[in-house]
Amino acid sequence: MKIICIGRNYVEHIHELNNEVPDEPVIFLKPDTALLRENAPFFIPEFTQDVHYEVELVVKIKKMGKFIPVQFAHTYYDDISLGIDFTARDLQSKLKAKGLPWEKSKGFDHSAVIGKFLPKTDFDLTNLNFRLEKNGEVVQKGNSQQMINSIDQIISHVSEYFTLKVGDYIYTGTPSGVGPVSSGDKLVGFIETEEMFRFNIG
Ligand code: MG
Repeated sequence: MKIICIGRNYVEHIHELNNEVPDEPVIFLKPDTALLRENAPFFIPEFTQDVHYEVELVVKIKKMGKFIPVQFAHTYYDDISLGIDFTARDLQSKLKAKGLPWEKSKGFDHSAVIGKFLPKTDFDLTNLNFRLEKNGEVVQKGNSQQMINSIDQIISHVSEYFTLKVGDYIYTGTPSGVGPVSSGDKLVGFIETEEMFRFNIG
């Protein structure tokens, strides 16, 4: 399986990192070794002093597809989840400054937290609230209406470049409020009132 991530999909988050609003979705990949499942603790790697959480809606692809039209994209997923795109922000800033690929700062082991999956029919995908709590305080809040590119637009665009296969995950971008984690922090993510993950920073 592969993990496809969308960058710069929420205007307020683009502004907080002083980036430009892109003309089309920004795409990057994480390897399957990036996954961190089942509320396992996350340990901060030694190569960074500034790991940021980025909470994101995630969809799981259920059938193979290529050149998927937007109007059929909804038939390619049934289940949604919430995840974290952990980012070594210090390393990413260095790589960006040199115009180099982000992979080391984004795709390292356990950088892709994934929560439980629920059927999309449980929710209104056009008006979906989600949030991240750190040590009991809300640090990020988002709504699917704030996405520059919708889930279906993302699937269509991504599938022009990468064949989507059963079990692939797409992380759909983070709203504003990203910030650092420290050893001992407790992170809990919700879609609406459903707790999707709960884990500690080791
Ligand atoms: Mg992200």
